Amino acid sequence: MNATLIEVLARHWGFASFRPLQAEAMEAAVGGRDTLVVMPTGGGKSLCYQAPAIVNGSLTLVVSPLISLMKDQVDGLVACGVAAAQFNSSQTSVEQRDVERALNERKLRLLFVSPERLAMATFRQLISRGGVSAFAIDEAHCISQWGHDFRPEYRQLRELRQLFPKASLHAFTATATERVRRDIAEQLGLRNHVELVGNFDRPNLTYRIIPRRDEVAQVEEVLHRHRREAGIIYCIRRRDVDTLASILERRGYRVAAYHAGLSPDQRRSAQESFSKEECDIIVATVAFGMGIDRSNVRFVLHTGMPKSVEHYQQETGRAGRDGLEAECAMLYAPKDAAAWNSILAGTADTTAIENVDRMQQYATSLVCRHKALVEYFGQTYENANCGACDVCLDAHEAVPDSLVIAQKIVSCVVRAGETFGVSHIVAILRGSSNEKIHERRHDKLSTYGILGNHSKEELSDWIAQLIAQGFLKREGTQYPVLRLTPTSRAMLRGAAEVRLVRAAAREIDDAGGRDLSWTGVDHALFEELREWRKREADSRAVPPFTILGDGALRMLAAVRPSSLEKMKHISGIGETRHADFGAGLLNVIVNYCAKSGVAFDCPAPPPAPRREPAPTPSRTQAYDAFRRGASIEEVMAMTARVRSTIAGYLADFIVTERPATIDAWLDRGQYELIAPAVERLGTERLKPIYEEFEGRISYDDIRLVVAHRVARVSSPFTPRGADAPRQVAAQT
Ligand code: ADP
Ligand code: MG
Repeated sequence: MNATLIEVLARHWGFASFRPLQAEAMEAAVGGRDTLVVMPTGGGKSLCYQAPAIVNGSLTLVVSPLISLMKDQVDGLVACGVAAAQFNSSQTSVEQRDVERALNERKLRLLFVSPERLAMATFRQLISRGGVSAFAIDEAHCISQWGHDFRPEYRQLRELRQLFPKASLHAFTATATERVRRDIAEQLGLRNHVELVGNFDRPNLTYRIIPRRDEVAQVEEVLHRHRREAGIIYCIRRRDVDTLASILERRGYRVAAYHAGLSPDQRRSAQESFSKEECDIIVATVAFGMGIDRSNVRFVLHTGMPKSVEHYQQETGRAGRDGLEAECAMLYAPKDAAAWNSILAGTADTTAIENVDRMQQYATSLVCRHKALVEYFGQTYENANCGACDVCLDAHEAVPDSLVIAQKIVSCVVRAGETFGVSHIVAILRGSSNEKIHERRHDKLSTYGILGNHSKEELSDWIAQLIAQGFLKREGTQYPVLRLTPTSRAMLRGAAEVRLVRAAAREIDDAGGRDLSWTGVDHALFEELREWRKREADSRAVPPFTILGDGALRMLAAVRPSSLEKMKHISGIGETRHADFGAGLLNVIVNYCAKSGVAFDCPAPPPAPRREPAPTPSRTQAYDAFRRGASIEEVMAMTARVRSTIAGYLADFIVTERPATIDAWLDRGQYELIAPAVERLGTERLKPIYEEFEGRISYDDIRLVVAHRVARVSSPFTPRGADAPRQVAAQT
């Protein structure tokens, strides 16, 4: 490992180690290789070009899409003792001249500019004189038409390669699709570059998708869990932003609104008050967020479904950049998809509509959210239970007569001739009387009104779940209609298992690992340190998060160092910060400890462990019973939980405890029927296996076999692959 890089990391940032892939990315950059680095938001991309610039002792030009955010980035670097500046139209000519002088004297290491600025000939001459040796292109997906933020200005970056043949190029993005990645490399003309793609899972985020019933009350429930903490609330439409922001303001929250309909000044002031911690909550459309570096965002709340999984991932990614726990909640209603389809109707963009569909599948499926998200981006997810999403935390309850309900829905689709969309089918099922129904004589269908005792929302929810499970599909873009699939018939005959769910009535418990990073932290001292940080930030006219991150503040409030010397060991306090802020921080700590009598120099709390499956009481009870060989039915009776929940527990139990056989829960003949299909089709997804048997075998049974195969393969005592069939046969 390059000693100089690690020294720079410690000296300027006070970090003792690299995040995953940072060392590789930095070493390639120090060696002058082109790089393409893909990491999720909060993964630590900035350091990948900042530290090499210092080690190389030459100028790196940073291309960043938003002028309004460059100042924050520069302030943060200056606080770490790095020679950094911006050059743009927000500056006075005096300020610009200072930058020119620093460039000519080759004093700068990092200079932030917009792509437009970089297209100017005079500016290009200026940086040649400044000896530019590398270009870091942040948010590089903006160069690709396939990305979700295409910016024509980024296209001009293609010329850099010819104009500065000696400089290396470094592209950074959080957008992981293969197509965007290839496009970035091609457009920039990367040469023999090092491509690094990080792990997309964000274990510190808890994902929750909650059916939307009473929006404002549900929003307040989330806010209640995050008093005085920072958060972003995303709404689908501008008018929803305005309405919600004013309601929250009236109720005493410190909020600001942000959307493209506001003037540039209004938007800038919203952004500034958020980064200065003068407001806690931003209510916004998708227009808000790119490049926002405030690291202590503790929640991101979607009041409606975003328009693609990419958007969901980017927007939720803005929570918890500091690595501390954060919550990502989404209020979902089936009509959100219709709202997006009508917004997108004008664009004739079929991928946009597919994206909405895939997002809806994500929202309605019952696969672990971490797993589904990571797999969406083409990576695998090993954890059987993340302990940090609504699915794994048991927020759903199976509907007892799922199969009968599903049959009613699907036969209604058949009777209506497979030519109608969700809302009309729901209207028939509920026995509504409207013009379209009378015109088509749909009130004469045998399925008219057969699910009249269920709400519109519930029925649309279930239809979405049937689509996600492959029993129905939606076809057509402008007026999508419901159609049957190959497995629908088997289901109608009763030869398939269907699982419909509704939200569990029980309260969302807030354990979700939220307290982990508060271990040993004195809350009152944390608040005092936070106030000190705010005063310090104001006096320097910089945002608080550039002074010091929440992680470092919590560590200070837990360890409570008694001297400047002891403060040096706190992660996040490098030499410059120590020199600049050490005395001020120490003063707050000493006064606080004297006043309240708490001890100094406590041991640093251990780093928050990666979350284990959350032991809910019923899960613990179920595991104990399984150990004694209890059947699924017995455990259902014991815990008052439905079959699918218990089958899920059992699958997790099998993966973690690796029983030699699962005969206690699954008939041997059935096992031997399913196992070869699992071998052939893999353990990644249940659906292909389910389809292989045309719905004759239940998801639960497949899940158990898959769990058993996974447990065997991952066992240190059994060899992988080759002789697996023999092990199955050998079970007695
Ligand atoms: P990205 O640009 O990938 O979204 P950032 O570069 O903004 O992420 O980094 C996110 C946060 O992680 C920042 O607060 C940064 O200080 C912190 N960070 C980056 N690298 C490290 C590291 N090696 N150790 C500890 N914290 C780090
Ligand atoms: Mg970034």
